[in-house]
Amino acid sequence: MTQKKWRPGQGRRNHKHFTRPTIPQRLINLKATLSPIQFFLEEVERFEPRREHGWINSGLCPFHTDTRTGSFSVSLDSGAFHCFSCGTAGGDIISFYRLKYCLGFMDALRDLEGRAGIWQR
Ligand SMILES: [Zn+2]
Repeated sequence: MTQKKWRPGQGRRNHKHFTRPTIPQRLINLKATLSPIQFFLEEVERFEPRREHGWINSGLCPFHTDTRTGSFSVSLDSGAFHCFSCGTAGGDIISFYRLKYCLGFMDALRDLEGRAGIWQR
C-alpha cells in the first residue's frame, strides 16, 4: 500500500473559492458599504438630500453645464440617477461613476471599493 505524499500548496486548492469574491459579490459588498447618499454628497455639486428615501431632485447635473438645481434626480435607495435636461440616466452608483470619469466597469468598481474602504487581494 502506497501513501500519497503531502506536498506544500496542495491543501490550499480547496480554499480557492473563499479568498476571491466574484464580481457580483463585490458589487453587493460595495453597495452595502457605500450608501448612495454618501456617494452623491461627494460627487454632485450643491447636493442637498431632503429626504432619506425615494427620488429627490437635488444638486447640479455633472453631465451638462447645469446652473440651477431641479433637473437632476437621484434615488437614494438604489443610487439610480436621471437628468431631465440632458437625458443622462443610469441604474446605480457604478454607472454614475463610469459616466462621470469615463471609466470601464472594473476600474470604477476598484475605485469605489477603495473609497468604501474595501480592499481586494
Ligand atoms: Zn444633465
